[in-house]
Amino acid sequence: MSQKRDYYEILGVSRTATKEEIKKAYRRLALKYHPDRNPGDKVAEEKFKEAAEAYEVLSDDEKRRIYDQFGHNGLQGNTGFSGFSDLNDIFSAFSDIFEEAFFGGGYSGRSRRSRSSHRNRGKDLQITIKLTLEDMVNGVQGKKIKVKKKVKCPECGGSGGERETCPTCHGSGQVYRTMQSFFGTIHQASTCPTCNGQGYIVSKPCPVCNGTGLVDGEEVITIDIPPGVTGEMQMTLRGKGNAGPHGGLSGDLIINFKEQPHSQLRREGVNLVYDLDISIPEAVLGTTKEIPTVEGTVKIKIAPGTESGKILRLRGKGIPVYGEDRRGDLLIKVRVFIPKNISKKEAEILRRLQDSENFKPKGKGFFSKLKDNLGL
Ligand SMILES: [Zn+2]
Ligand SMILES: [Zn+2]
Repeated sequence: MSQKRDYYEILGVSRTATKEEIKKAYRRLALKYHPDRNPGDKVAEEKFKEAAEAYEVLSDDEKRRIYDQFGHNGLQGNTGFSGFSDLNDIFSAFSDIFEEAFFGGGYSGRSRRSRSSHRNRGKDLQITIKLTLEDMVNGVQGKKIKVKKKVKCPECGGSGGERETCPTCHGSGQVYRTMQSFFGTIHQASTCPTCNGQGYIVSKPCPVCNGTGLVDGEEVITIDIPPGVTGEMQMTLRGKGNAGPHGGLSGDLIINFKEQPHSQLRREGVNLVYDLDISIPEAVLGTTKEIPTVEGTVKIKIAPGTESGKILRLRGKGIPVYGEDRRGDLLIKVRVFIPKNISKKEAEILRRLQDSENFKPKGKGFFSKLKDNLGL
């Protein structure tokens, strides 16, 4: 392993820092270098791991004491701790910090980190909720959703029946293998095969749930969707997924959103776009048009001489920026309609305009041509 940096230096705290100071420093760094904020950035990922390792040690009294006395080498010898290799280990080790710091409201742009390391944890469930533009702008209060899921068996209370301490591991959930080696006796622990690491066996299975502790059920859940939530986001409701077998932790309920197309507006990020077709006379003479917004129609003036492709902007009429007190804009993309079929009379009028100096496209002047030729 390469030369490691000092843990206090990594977190930017003094050697006498309190636990609270260490936690604060770590939270700040974890937020800064979080992979969700630095996608694909290997340097950030390394810093993220480094900070997690420093925090893992300095937040633990015993490890900190050993580190203070013996440095990095002391830790490897005494605790078997050698840092994190997997990001998921970091997320599960400090899930409390991440939940507080990042997913306070339960929203994230990316899939959530799992708590799957818990034994007997229930399955996560996924559902999809439809969102209209109006929902995205205003949010949805008190939406009721019915979720079909595994719930605790009412007969046995989720235990699965009468339990007995596992005869193989005597309740520890682990079995040990002893090996003789050059260095002495080595004990290797592994999960008990009899009880699957649970420490007990169900000796008299509950007849209702067949010993699983779970039955099919459903729950009506009321959720609030804040303004600015879009189809790219997910919402995680902790513990609202399947109940865990044998009284274990419940899984999460992950809510995905599917955007419903609007008849006239489309979303581009936090902006809304409206395609406005105007006629040739309207483009030349100017006009007034009604534009649909999520809050109803508004009238806008189209200035005389408006060209096809011009974009007009209604500020603050777009989608709210999630978690912020501002909204995107409504962009009006103007297109001048060119008719394919016209009458003789119309053609006559246009032919008369054809020779009018004002209707001739203005070519580039001498100086701008010169500039172009010179590449300026
Ligand atoms: Zn039961
Ligand atoms: Zn066992």
